[in-house]
Amino acid sequence: MSHNFNDDISTPEKFVVTLELVPGREILGGAIETIKKISKEAYDDGRITAVSITDNPGGNPALSPDAIGREILDYGMDVIVHFTCRDANRMGMESRALQLARMGMRNILALTGDYSGKGFGGRGTPVFDFDSVILTTMLSDLNRRLISSGSSEVFVTGCAVSPFKYTEAETWIQYRKLQRKIEAGASFAITQLGYDIDKFEELLRFNRDKEVKVPMLASLYLLNKGAATVMHSGKIPGVHVAKQLYERILADYAVPGEGPKRAIERTARLGAVLKGIGYNGIHIAGIHKNFDTVAAILDRMEEIGHNWEEYREEFREESNGRFYIYKEAAVEEVADGGRSEIKLKFGDEVHYLFLRTAHDLFFDKEASLAPMYRKISSAFEKKNASWMLKMFLEDPFKKLMLSCKSCGDCGIQHVGFLCPESGCPKHTRNGACGGSRDGYCEVNQDKLCVWVRAYYRMKRHNETEQLTASFVPPRSWELQDTSSWINFHLDRDHQKVAKAT
Ligand code: SF4
Repeated sequence: MSHNFNDDISTPEKFVVTLELVPGREILGGAIETIKKISKEAYDDGRITAVSITDNPGGNPALSPDAIGREILDYGMDVIVHFTCRDANRMGMESRALQLARMGMRNILALTGDYSGKGFGGRGTPVFDFDSVILTTMLSDLNRRLISSGSSEVFVTGCAVSPFKYTEAETWIQYRKLQRKIEAGASFAITQLGYDIDKFEELLRFNRDKEVKVPMLASLYLLNKGAATVMHSGKIPGVHVAKQLYERILADYAVPGEGPKRAIERTARLGAVLKGIGYNGIHIAGIHKNFDTVAAILDRMEEIGHNWEEYREEFREESNGRFYIYKEAAVEEVADGGRSEIKLKFGDEVHYLFLRTAHDLFFDKEASLAPMYRKISSAFEKKNASWMLKMFLEDPFKKLMLSCKSCGDCGIQHVGFLCPESGCPKHTRNGACGGSRDGYCEVNQDKLCVWVRAYYRMKRHNETEQLTASFVPPRSWELQDTSSWINFHLDRDHQKVAKAT
């Protein structure tokens, strides 16, 4: 049965079911045939609105979702294409978006993406020219162009959100980034994978409080023993399987023949609870063999749906030492220095205050001295002497203070006076990716996420509201290795772009 994803998610009374499929590294053979077979059976079943197809998951090469997605679309099943920022720069991404539009594939899940994995010859270059907020903005801009060129169909762009963050900093940054994505044009959101019902409810309550109104789909993963072991170990960025749940799954699989049945039952129960608490749909993943499992989950959800409240407690996790916005007890634990609170070193405070003061003195276009800095910058330019300022003053200072990468389009003021180029492997400028864990970076796991550091630096001064408060445009690559100070004062960097839009 044919569905139109956009129509279904735009219908408030409809509970939408999407199904995530993962292509492998081949163009023929069993894995591809399985994906096509599951999609065909999903279409025949009629309860699935769209299949969503991953984009080089884990950063490893796989058949493009654009190619297999088009084949699936041809027999009537609607498709959501995952679109990450890892593998192409802005030209490549725009070109891919145009190609998708031309192919008639308009449902996009815009993601920053996992870090680069291994391809031919080893690890590939992590591009991350954009982050997911900027990608969403680019797709909105493309929509305006599509409309003005006479196209009747535009991109329906969605985003990911991870409520399964257990430090105060990560929680707030994730939710604020969700707001930025929606402002940028995201019209639906899909949660990261987790099983903590308090966090699922936290997201819905945050949305109500902040009047976030786009449809929310909750991820639901068929958790077998193998998947649970990998996810519990923390090897999948941003995915959270707690110890108690993992132990229950091991116990299920210890009973011969019981594990798979109980995995289906658990998935159905969580699906029923998520529908009961108000999610607009579910996004089922972890299906690799056949559609029967999905049908069994949906059948069981229908059977137990009226009793969903009975199952809610099964998905409540111990909150000890974790941060929840709306749970008083857990918030008190923050003061005890639990996992939810991260203490920065004294040096971080000095570093922040020093750079913030310098920024206020020298890089405020509203300040009384701003015209003078502009004149000085112009004089350096006229005498072709900018390189001297950069080489003898700016570089030594910024390399020492920030491990500056000389991008020439400085973004430290958006990240608590930390460098998004040297500090974040994905160069995010609009908030953290979803991959951090307990405050630590997805990529450099022994280092705090740069956004977590920024949050706690600003928190001491009640300034966290400024963090991810508004859209930060992408950096201009033509400014690489030029003086960011002069670029700022002569209105060449992204801050001029921000003013003009
Ligand atoms: S520093 Fe934070 S935002 Fe950047 S890659 Fe690491 S976890 Fe993601």
